[in-house]
Amino acid sequence: MTKTALITGITGQDGYYLSRLLLGLGYRVIGLIPPQRCSSIVKLDELADKVKIRPVDLRDAQILREVVEELQPDEIYNLAAPSFVPNSWNDPLGTLDLITGTATRLLSAVREVGLANRTRFYQASSSEMFGTVDVSPQDENTSFRPKNPYAAAKLHAHWTMVHHRDRYDLFACSGILYNHESPRRPPSFVTRKVTLTAASIKLGYCNTLEMGNLDAKRDWGYAGDYVEAMWRMLQADRPEDYAIGTGQLHSVRELVAMAFDCLDLDWQNYVVINPQFLRPDEHFQLVANPAKAKENLQWQPQMSLAALIQEMVTKDLERIKLGKIKPIQ
Ligand code: GDP
Repeated sequence: MTKTALITGITGQDGYYLSRLLLGLGYRVIGLIPPQRCSSIVKLDELADKVKIRPVDLRDAQILREVVEELQPDEIYNLAAPSFVPNSWNDPLGTLDLITGTATRLLSAVREVGLANRTRFYQASSSEMFGTVDVSPQDENTSFRPKNPYAAAKLHAHWTMVHHRDRYDLFACSGILYNHESPRRPPSFVTRKVTLTAASIKLGYCNTLEMGNLDAKRDWGYAGDYVEAMWRMLQADRPEDYAIGTGQLHSVRELVAMAFDCLDLDWQNYVVINPQFLRPDEHFQLVANPAKAKENLQWQPQMSLAALIQEMVTKDLERIKLGKIKPIQ
């Protein structure tokens, strides 16, 4: 029988890769999109006419209940969030309502319409919830010390999901995902900023890349691999939470060198430090111990960082040449 998946945040990076995966597995995929943003479905490119869209205000509990009752989803993936962390300082309450409010309203809807025994729920948690860590690597048992409004909201949503699982016996899981990238990552994130600017330099549109802290390190993986972990969590025998990352740390400097290497350019000729991009308080190192996912879900990241950066650079070059995106000038 055809399974139905409901996705919030479907037009984001993860929404695209998850939809592609689920459509390939024969699912009926339905995206909940705010009514005023329905035209953003074009971001799904070739998938846009394969997924179905429901214009829904995620702040409206009544509408969410009606949609969940009508569609009787087998799986719900709650991905909606303003993902660029620094912006959450500008609107902490809006961030809380979108992230925590949506998770709470969806979980309540599942329970209230009597689908607690049927619908499986995935909550998009984030390694940002660990915040100022003093242990490395982190796993599912590491304490959380969120240090920005985005992370605090994600943590609240995470605990709300746990409470629903414990109290109402819902099959609900949380994937604590580390940074995951792709050619679909917005250029506000460092990987895409670097690949897009390097491609623009190669094509002669600009000659500098302004960066923040080159010594900052991250555990970067490929979004296409990470959505597979989300799906596997919901196919497991028991609902549990998982830290999803590669377990490898790389510095921003290494990332920059990889991108310029792909283009036969020496990064040191182009990169300048602009203090505007430095962030205070970056002494921690977020890196996953994904052993539980490997053991329980047989999940492992497939794409290396070098291959990922190569793919991003290649795509940016191609899209600039075809006039599909604007180069950095
Ligand atoms: P985040 O982990 O969600 O904050 O993802 P980002 O891609 O925005 O940042 C990853 C790391 O890159 C952080 O440690 C930043 O301090 C560092 N970084 C260094 N230079 C830059 C820059 O120019 N832009 C961004 N976005 N990050 C930078």
